[in-house]
Amino acid sequence: MRDRIQRKLIEIVGPANYSDKLIDLVAYSYDGSYYSHRPDCAVWADSTEQISQILGFANQEKMPVVARGAGTGISGNAIPVKGGIVLDLSRMNRILSIQIPDRLTVVEPGVVYDKLQAALSPHGFFFPPDPASGKVCTLGGNVGTNAGGLRAAKYGTTREYVLGLQVVLANGEIMRTGARTMKTSSGYDLTRLFTGSEGTLGVFTEITLKIVPKPAETATALAAFDRLESAGEAVTRIMQSDITPSALELLDTTIIRLLQKYTDGEIPPAAAIILAETDGRTRQVVDHQMAYLVKLFEQCHATSVELAKTDDDAERLWRGRKEIAGMFGELGLVNIPEDLTVPMSRISEYLTRCQSLSKKHQLAIINFGHAGDGNFHTNILYDPDDPDQKNRLEPTRLDLHELACELGGTLTGEHGIGITKAGFMDLEHDPSALKMMRSLKQALDPNNILNPGKMAL
Ligand SMILES: Cc1cc2nc3c(=O)[nH]c(=O)nc-3n(C[C@H](O)[C@H](O)[C@H](O)COP(=O)(O)OP(=O)(O)OC[C@H]3O[C@@H](n4cnc5c(N)ncnc54)[C@H](O)[C@@H]3O)c2cc1C
Repeated sequence: MRDRIQRKLIEIVGPANYSDKLIDLVAYSYDGSYYSHRPDCAVWADSTEQISQILGFANQEKMPVVARGAGTGISGNAIPVKGGIVLDLSRMNRILSIQIPDRLTVVEPGVVYDKLQAALSPHGFFFPPDPASGKVCTLGGNVGTNAGGLRAAKYGTTREYVLGLQVVLANGEIMRTGARTMKTSSGYDLTRLFTGSEGTLGVFTEITLKIVPKPAETATALAAFDRLESAGEAVTRIMQSDITPSALELLDTTIIRLLQKYTDGEIPPAAAIILAETDGRTRQVVDHQMAYLVKLFEQCHATSVELAKTDDDAERLWRGRKEIAGMFGELGLVNIPEDLTVPMSRISEYLTRCQSLSKKHQLAIINFGHAGDGNFHTNILYDPDDPDQKNRLEPTRLDLHELACELGGTLTGEHGIGITKAGFMDLEHDPSALKMMRSLKQALDPNNILNPGKMAL
């Protein structure tokens, strides 16, 4: 049977685009999470027709197929937990059109996020979601996980920009969703259903994205607070105002202390720090907006507020925040990254209760992230050589996910469910909603070949 499958896949993609070599299987068994599982083989496809043939064949054979972009997903989204075929889409990487008068671009799924930005920049346009992995992650992966980033408070996440998709369904059928217009009320919104579906409902082979004019100016400020509650209050008051910052990041005491110790990011001592950015068409507009935010920081008892006067200043203020991911490598501990998200009015309560959970479970819990949309990168740190700490990890994760849901929040603001959060789905979704999700999966993929074992489906 193995030979037959190998022969058929090679017939579709050619011998150079098929592999079952150990080195490739090991590489494709990992993504950005701590999990791994080997596939049986990998194929590099370069057309919709090839993907249609691969899925049609895999469906007959009832063989799992896992679509993969750059494999940077953090929730184990692209790990082939049931083996099967890894379908690498990174070679389908053409920008098919940039249509400025229509304010849209049509791309293949393997286009890297930053490559699209570079192509849009000369036109004065951009695609806003801005994941921190933008140098490597693909637009197919961004749509697959509904990726977001620093600017989501103002510009939203990937979902807000997907106008339409070409999708290959589990049986190999090719389908188009959406329209190349800024709006449509035509039928069920299949585009939104497929966005964030983590490769479980179909494989995107063409993506139509809305693009927006790039703001010419930005202003940046860093505010320090000696009480976490004051920083939380500042966020709430900003989000109640008529100013929407393009970024509003909050760092808690623990991450501030770690940054002071392990980086040269010049982070002031504080119980909490807020980094704010405003953007707009003119200097006058962004400065006016920032002046208002500074006034609110002061009213909320900020102990210091530093305004960037130059681009270099702005870069310096952002440095600490941007060094966080690299710093984790220095700690000699494992960090489990969550992306729990709560309503903005509950941020202080969330952060304070995270500190209580840290004491309860005797594990470091640190928080930083996108306060402007309530999305926190809540990281649990533990020593992998200490079995006691390892045993306390899952109960801590359960408590954190329960907390987010209790506060009216969600299990994931941008990374998706994958395998790491699958066990928590019933904390957020009621039985009817879960049943509906499983019915949709069953209708679209009755043989469960598309990325099986994910999202508790
Ligand atoms: C250092 C680092 C920083 C990160 N920062 C952010 C961040 O700021 N914001 C954020 O949202 N995420 C972030 N991530 C997570 C990750 O980069 C995103 O989830 C990204 O969208 C994944 O893109 P990818 O190309 O790597 O997709 P993959 O990991 O390859 O796949 C992700 C999911 O999408 C599915 N998929 C991929 N391509 C297709 C396709 N063509 N059709 C259907 N399904 C498909 C896969 O099956 C999988 O379920 C970060 C990760 C790292 C390692």
